[in-house]
Amino acid sequence: PAIPVDSWHKGVCRFCGTGCGIMIGVRDGKVVDVKGDEYAHNRGRICIKGILNREILYVRDRALYPMIRRNGRLERATWDEAMSLVAERFREAIDRYGPDSVAFYGSGQLFTEESYTANKLFKAGIGTNNVDGNPRLCMASAAAGYISVFGKDEPMGCYEDIDHATCFFITGSNTADCHPIVWERIMDRKRSRPETVIIVVDPRRTRTARHADYHLAIRPGTDVALYNAMIYEFIRNGFIDQDMVENYLTFREGDAERTFEDLKRHVAQYTPERVAPVCGVDARQIEEVAYLFAASEATMSIWTMGLNQQAQGTAANRLVNAMHLLTGHIGRPGATPFSLTGQPNAGGGVRDTGALAHALPNGRVVANPQHRAEMEDLWGVPRGRISPKPGYHAVAMFEAMARGDLKCVLIMGTNPAQSLPHAERYREAMQRTFLVVADAIYPTETAQFADVFLPSAMWVEKGGVFSQSERRYHLVPKLVEPPGEARSDLEILVELADRLGYGDLIKARTPEEVWDEWRQISAHSPYNFAGITYERLKKERGILWPAPTEDHPGTCRRYVPGEDPMAKGTGRFDFYGRPDGRAVVYLEHQQPSSDPRSDEYPLTLVTGRVYEHWHTLTITGKLEELEDITTDFLVVHPRDAHRYGIRDGAPVLVESRRGRAVLKARVSTDITPGVVFAPFHSPEALVNRVVNNTVDPISKEPAFKESAVRIRPA
Ligand code: SF4
Repeated sequence: PAIPVDSWHKGVCRFCGTGCGIMIGVRDGKVVDVKGDEYAHNRGRICIKGILNREILYVRDRALYPMIRRNGRLERATWDEAMSLVAERFREAIDRYGPDSVAFYGSGQLFTEESYTANKLFKAGIGTNNVDGNPRLCMASAAAGYISVFGKDEPMGCYEDIDHATCFFITGSNTADCHPIVWERIMDRKRSRPETVIIVVDPRRTRTARHADYHLAIRPGTDVALYNAMIYEFIRNGFIDQDMVENYLTFREGDAERTFEDLKRHVAQYTPERVAPVCGVDARQIEEVAYLFAASEATMSIWTMGLNQQAQGTAANRLVNAMHLLTGHIGRPGATPFSLTGQPNAGGGVRDTGALAHALPNGRVVANPQHRAEMEDLWGVPRGRISPKPGYHAVAMFEAMARGDLKCVLIMGTNPAQSLPHAERYREAMQRTFLVVADAIYPTETAQFADVFLPSAMWVEKGGVFSQSERRYHLVPKLVEPPGEARSDLEILVELADRLGYGDLIKARTPEEVWDEWRQISAHSPYNFAGITYERLKKERGILWPAPTEDHPGTCRRYVPGEDPMAKGTGRFDFYGRPDGRAVVYLEHQQPSSDPRSDEYPLTLVTGRVYEHWHTLTITGKLEELEDITTDFLVVHPRDAHRYGIRDGAPVLVESRRGRAVLKARVSTDITPGVVFAPFHSPEALVNRVVNNTVDPISKEPAFKESAVRIRPA
């Protein structure tokens, strides 16, 4: 029999960037059931994590009350005691050492209203750009790619493109496990049109790769060479869209202007024959894949962390965008370069609000005087209030903590003591700083270093707007009360603003008030979503921006005149993010690895996720239903297992230039020889101790997917 439910409410899954619509059943003030929303883009489907949205509110270890560290131990305190101490220490640091001695480290799991408020408080109130967060670890290279190519962030396509694509180029994404409902839609397309081609580029034979028509198991960190070779093939085979080249593109190498002829000469150095040994694949495979990409009616590229988490993450992103621009596979149904977002709200919540150290709202940057002046006027603060100096990006923030340059840091809704690369170094750094941690779960790896711990409400205990991969903003309603004394992160930020004397700046105090302010600000930018009101969000299944007026239905394909309300003219495209309306194709060279293999460290470690679990297990690790899903394993090819004396199921020590971890060996042919794989979920194994903390020079995203390691029996 069905579970008795008092009322059903439309909402959104709180886990991944697929952003599935779900229906939430409430009874007696508790969430008692969830099911897929058949009217949402996911057509009623949800994955195991979606189903477990019901359980997550009631896991053990929900944080119930504030705590203050006394005599080395976190002890229960009142909200007044905790917030007084936080405000006192922040004020003391700001007065004594200046605004840049404090920082905010946020999360793609906060609601948009929360990230927006934190960004405004720190940049326009306190006067520091030390605002960053975990989206730097996953999406920064995708954002840097879009911004440098199109002038503005976020994909131009949408999920509907999946239903029209005739070729999927999936590179650096295990879509089947990490975005399962996007994957189901891809498989729907394949099932209904079996001649649809699926190409997967991944050093692992993932569940996604097993369904591929072509699997290129390239060496980690060699994407740039591969994409150059594909562009070489496009040119050689006459697949270049000349109208695009002549009317819609410009060419660059770094800051220097280049031409299409320069690009031809550049990629001539990357013939498939030359690139094949670099990537560890066959030259014929590269030729065939390039042909299928270009010759298809409509090609959709899909990527995520495999592309982004490299020392050349931005270059790789630029080249995938370039492959679409040069072949004209863009701006038509099914033809689009589409990066998937990892977290539920890294895009709309953090990238769009500019809650990153270099950024300001709606694609503005702190280094640009005009952008600063615009935001100072919109926020009603005196000219000169926003600092022109970019703040600390994620890794730099924790380096500054290690040096003692940051005195007070507020960490909200994330667990960097486990999720940062070179984790041991930054765990030590946290102990040198006055650390305030707000989280819905206690304990976590990060909370153990907190001086003050604040219990947060989560998901439908507070309410707010999430985004997802396709620029869709959608509403999570508040349906139940948080447990114990937990409060929303927005309430915590508003109280901090009041106690620091910025109450006049942070006037919007409820999610809807903040949203109204934020959407009005967007009207002064190409991200215009002034027409997406709470009223609409309560009724509709999310809306894709731009949507400048309340009667605008939202935009599936950006930059296309007639479809995108911001695009002008009657041509094929108006890349209005760029001053000349043309997108940029970059000439990029493959660089040597940022953590080269050597005789001492002969293997490359890549990390990732498993289907059932989420990030650092703070939530899914507490669910009985997932108890048997282990995450402390290392996948090793039989050839490497034999060479290093590793036995299946036995403990294996994995060591790098940064640290060591012990995992359980899983010997499998599902990985390229010379590469090993571990999920980053397990707090006990803590594989991020081993992982490379080199960052991409443009996006500042760490190279999680390029760590030279050695292995031996533990
Ligand atoms: Fe939630 Fe992502 Fe699963 Fe959809 S695919 S139900 S958003 S975890």
